[in-house]
Amino acid sequence: MRSLEEYSRIVGEDVIDQIHQLARVLKGARVIHVNSTREGGGVAEILHWLVPLQAQLGLEVDWEVIKGEQAFYECTKSFHNALQGTRVPIPESLLRVYEETNRQNAEELRERLEAADFVFIHDPQPAPFLKFCPDRKGKWIWRCHIDVSRPYRPVWKYLRDFVVGYDASVWSLSQFAQPLPHPTYLIPPSIDPLSEKNVDLPAHEIEAVREKFGLNADMPVIVQVSRFDRFKDPVGAIQACRLAKNYTPFQLVLAGGGASDDPEGERMHREVMDAADGDPDVRVLLLPPDAHRTINALQRLADIVLQKSTREGFGLTVTEAMWKGKPVIGGDTGGIRLQVINHHTGFLVNTPEGAANRIRYLLKHRGKMDEMGRKARQFVLENFLLTRHLREYLTLMVAVTH
Ligand code: UDP
Repeated sequence: MRSLEEYSRIVGEDVIDQIHQLARVLKGARVIHVNSTREGGGVAEILHWLVPLQAQLGLEVDWEVIKGEQAFYECTKSFHNALQGTRVPIPESLLRVYEETNRQNAEELRERLEAADFVFIHDPQPAPFLKFCPDRKGKWIWRCHIDVSRPYRPVWKYLRDFVVGYDASVWSLSQFAQPLPHPTYLIPPSIDPLSEKNVDLPAHEIEAVREKFGLNADMPVIVQVSRFDRFKDPVGAIQACRLAKNYTPFQLVLAGGGASDDPEGERMHREVMDAADGDPDVRVLLLPPDAHRTINALQRLADIVLQKSTREGFGLTVTEAMWKGKPVIGGDTGGIRLQVINHHTGFLVNTPEGAANRIRYLLKHRGKMDEMGRKARQFVLENFLLTRHLREYLTLMVAVTH
C-alpha cells in the first residue's frame, strides 16, 4: 500500500499537510462504502485507493459490495441505461428482485451500517439500503456517479424514493444532479497517479505490450479503453477510424473487459467484433479485470486516445490518457466536457465524421498533438488527482456533521 507522503513529490508537501489537518477531526470515525463491484468500471477504480488512504488518515474504513443474482444486475443495468436517458420500462418482477436483494444484503450488514458514522452508498444498486437500516446513527451519503440530467422519468421517480432520505448526495457535475431535498455536493472523480494503471512505465515494458498485440511500430496507434458498453460507442469509434483511414494510415485498438455488474458486455463485444469485420488495423482486445499495467502501456503507446462515448458519467479513461500526456478526442458529453477543453487538451466530437476529421488533423500536425498532450497532463495535475478528491471527501464529511 502506498503512503500518502509518496504523493508529495507530485502535488507538493503543502497539499499532503492540508489533508492530514482536515482528517484530524475525523480520526476514529467509522466509514462504510458500498458499491456493486470490486473490479471493472470507474467506481471500483476509485474505491481501490480511496479506502486505504482514508484508513491511513485514521478513519476506520470498510468497503462492502452488494451481491445478487443475474436478474438483479439486469435490473440495475436497466437503471443505469434509463438514468442516462434510455426509455425502457423496467418490469415489476425485476424491481421486486432489486428490492429483495437490497433487503437481504442490508440485513447481513445492518448492525455495522447502523453503527457507522458515515455510510457512502455508491450509485443506484445499493440505494435502498437506507430504508432497511431504520436505526442508523451516522450520516448517509448517496454518491451518484451517473449522468442523471435527462433520465427516463418513471425510473428516476422510482429510485428517487430511495434516495430522498439521505443526508446528502454527491455528483460529479452540477448538470448531472436532480433536485433533491437535501444538500448536494459536487465532487468530480480523479485518478491515482501512482497506481499500476497510471504510474510511469519503462520504455521496454511499453514496447513489449506493442509486440504482444502485434502492433506495427511504424504506424500511429489510436486507443480507446472502455467496457464494452453501448454508451461508450465502440462501434462509432470503428466508423470514425474507417473514415479517417481513407486519408492517413493508423491502427485502432479497442481495449476493454466486462465488469461483474454489467450483463450486457458480451453482447456488445460481439457487435464490436462484427463491426471490426476482420480489419487487420482494428484490434479488439478483451482484457482481464486486472490488466492495469497493460492498459497503462496501451495508453502510453497511443498517439491519440479516443473516448467516443455518447453518454459518460465522468470518463476516468480520459483522465488516465491526459495524465500520460495524450490528446483526447472525446464525445461531447458528460464529464468528458469537463476534461477535454476543446482545441486545448483535445477535441470534443459529436459524430464519427467529427472524430475522423480530428484524427486526420492531429496525425498531420504532430506539434499540435504534443502541445495538447502537455496541456492535458498539466490540467489533470491541477484538477483530477486523488489528493484533491480525498480532500473534498474529508471536507464533505466535516460539512455534513455540522
Ligand atoms: N478499465 C479497466 N479495464 C477495462 C476497461 C476499463 O481497467 O477493460 C478501467 C479504466 O482504465 C478506468 C475505468 O475502468 O479506470 C473506467 O472508468 P470510466 O469512468 O472511464 O468508465 P465506467 O466504466 O465507470 O463507465
